[in-house]
Amino acid sequence: MPMYPDHRYELTMPTFTRIAWASDHAREVWEPRLHAVRAASLDLEWMSVEAGIRPCCIATVTPAEMLRLAPRWLSHDLTSHLVDVVNLGPEDGSDAATTGRPVGMRLIVGRLADVKRMVRAVEACDNDTIGLMLGYPPCCTEFFRTVWVEGDMIDTTWPMAAASPGERADEATIQLESAWEANILWRWGGVRPVPSLPCRFDCPGTLSFARALAGVARDNDLGEAMDWTREILSWPIKWSALHGIAEITTPICKISTPTDATGVRYTVEREGTTYPDEGARGLGFPYTSRVAPTGAGRPADVTSA
Ligand SMILES: [Zn+2]
Repeated sequence: MPMYPDHRYELTMPTFTRIAWASDHAREVWEPRLHAVRAASLDLEWMSVEAGIRPCCIATVTPAEMLRLAPRWLSHDLTSHLVDVVNLGPEDGSDAATTGRPVGMRLIVGRLADVKRMVRAVEACDNDTIGLMLGYPPCCTEFFRTVWVEGDMIDTTWPMAAASPGERADEATIQLESAWEANILWRWGGVRPVPSLPCRFDCPGTLSFARALAGVARDNDLGEAMDWTREILSWPIKWSALHGIAEITTPICKISTPTDATGVRYTVEREGTTYPDEGARGLGFPYTSRVAPTGAGRPADVTSA
């Protein structure tokens, strides 16, 4: 039951989402940054409500964080409503420990009247109102209903790409470009421009939403994490799906995660505008991306190993 749009993956990081790093060096440099970006995006959920960007959010915080945040929320006339308790799994999926896992509280946060309206909408499975209260662009809420609720898909990547301007290399391959603000393909790695699922790679509502969130991040001393978010989402990236497993190939790592089962391999290649110095080079997209590295460092060549 899709009661909480789009919060299936990034909150609990299911143990079957795997990250394989392109090199030890790439991991050394980028793993701490990914942690910082994920932490910042969780804070941005409620900070964007505090800033008046949207009426409500669904935030996941630990009990210790709740102690720290509750006075701040109260001072901004924000209240919270507990909807679920979730296990916060290991982010790289390498060790699904069964004991001692940190617990997160999933909360609706907003002003009292808005939280009440959101709770009623959740109870009624009213996705239009849920999307409205979460500040999601209406076109994306409609897309979510069509693809996720009615289409019963767990991965919106292909329908999103199919609705976007791009080149069809063949029936099952789409090549496109997009602003970083609508690049949602890093979401299984915890890096995303918006908490919603964009309807297209050029959705205007998503671009505005992402820019507003970036502004909130900068106003709250999260500028460095936002710079990394923008850089990561500017790299070329490939999503490829076959037999229920999606493989997301980035310059610095590959991510594997469940997707809708197909007997044919579907591929979306999103060209980038920058390439990390630590990124691998080799055969196939994105390693063959035409984009030059951001610095003078020579990228590792994965084909010569
Ligand atoms: Zn949209």
